[in-house]
Amino acid sequence: MTVTGLTRDDALAADSDDPLLKHRAGYRLPDGVIYLDGNSLGALPIHAPARVATAVEQQWGERLIASWNAVDAAADSDGWIDLPTRIGDKIGRIIGAAPGQVVVTDSTSVNVFKALAMALELRPDRRVILTQGGDFPTDGYVADGLARLLGRDHRVRRLTPSALQDAPSADVIQAIDSNTAVVLLSHVNYRTGAAHDLAAVTAAAHAAGALVVWDLAHSAGVMPVDFDAIDADFAVGCGYKYLNGGPGASAFLAIARRLQDQVSSPIAGWFGHARPFAFEAGFEPAADINLGQVGTPPVLSMVALEAGVDAVLAADPDAVRTKSVALTQRAIALADARLADYGVTVASPRDASMRGSQVCFRHPQAWPVNRALIDEGVIGDFRTPDILRLGFAPLYTRHVDVHDAMDTLADILRTRRWDAAVYHARTTVT
Ligand SMILES: *Cc1c(COP(=O)(O)O)cnc(C)c1O
Repeated sequence: MTVTGLTRDDALAADSDDPLLKHRAGYRLPDGVIYLDGNSLGALPIHAPARVATAVEQQWGERLIASWNAVDAAADSDGWIDLPTRIGDKIGRIIGAAPGQVVVTDSTSVNVFKALAMALELRPDRRVILTQGGDFPTDGYVADGLARLLGRDHRVRRLTPSALQDAPSADVIQAIDSNTAVVLLSHVNYRTGAAHDLAAVTAAAHAAGALVVWDLAHSAGVMPVDFDAIDADFAVGCGYKYLNGGPGASAFLAIARRLQDQVSSPIAGWFGHARPFAFEAGFEPAADINLGQVGTPPVLSMVALEAGVDAVLAADPDAVRTKSVALTQRAIALADARLADYGVTVASPRDASMRGSQVCFRHPQAWPVNRALIDEGVIGDFRTPDILRLGFAPLYTRHVDVHDAMDTLADILRTRRWDAAVYHARTTVT
């Protein structure tokens, strides 16, 4: 499925050859909207409302607290207590981690904190957390806060993002040294879509005696991740982006099995205890992936997340990546052909192997342009200062959607419809 032509008919032809097209019916998508923001909030899986309703009406409403335990196999099994590890194992299949290494818990930010603290505990003589300046800021904030809290002269070293497009992994690899305790990186950069070489960075870190925490927020569900094959240490990621778990869905935390009996959580809560229901006075960390949990899981939200994860698992991951590359390629080719005259440049890598499932454009008026685009039914987003970001979720985005979105964008730029006062006003959430 490569881009062979740029007309609307070419896009329709690509859709008719698309083995994933049938998955689109698995999501609720409003009429008249082209949704290109599934990398920020994934669309609603059609099975999620009924599953949440069952959890509310039959489980919470009828069986009440008994729902925490799995009921017998003949009945509709509740088993709320198993949700974090049951969904964790399913996410493990998506990121190439064998069972028992992924748990669904907390937010990505909190999981970054836990993973970094565990990594620093494993490297007590090293002082540097190495990260990238242009990555999603929460990860760096958390690293700074942890260094401050530990009070042991840890330093967060941020590489300058200048070379992000060209060879981000090479820059990181070069910067790892004998004082690097842990490398903290986004697999796919939230703003540019630039992707790291997971295997190469992990191998280089290990060769230098360092560990890696991978943030898979913008890749889990759309990019191949071979957690076990690359011998990864820790990973975190979001439930509400390409896993379509719904607003504020819990995040995931992956800890390699070989590390699980060597680490303990910096937030020692009862759900991470070896025997939570023994209510012992002292804390003993679980020796398995449950060590990543802290407190009671948000059950209703997890039920929705499981629907999203199940829908991702139903698709062939190779087909997902192939289509993702084709969609981003089409967007870039259309931008080159139709947007360059209006001062739009492509901010994402042109080499598909270095690109996630989004394409970002730079334009000095990206904010009002994006507002005008949304007004005309094409939902992307803006990232400060000048990025217009379009995310392509291969399970529900069609080639014709890419075509029509770029068509609308070109027309807005040509007519300068973006330059109306109403589009210049800022909203709180961008
Ligand atoms: C979206 C995103 C987050 C969000 O973290 P939360 O704590 O779940 O709000 C973190 N890191 C990256 C790289 C992201 O893209």
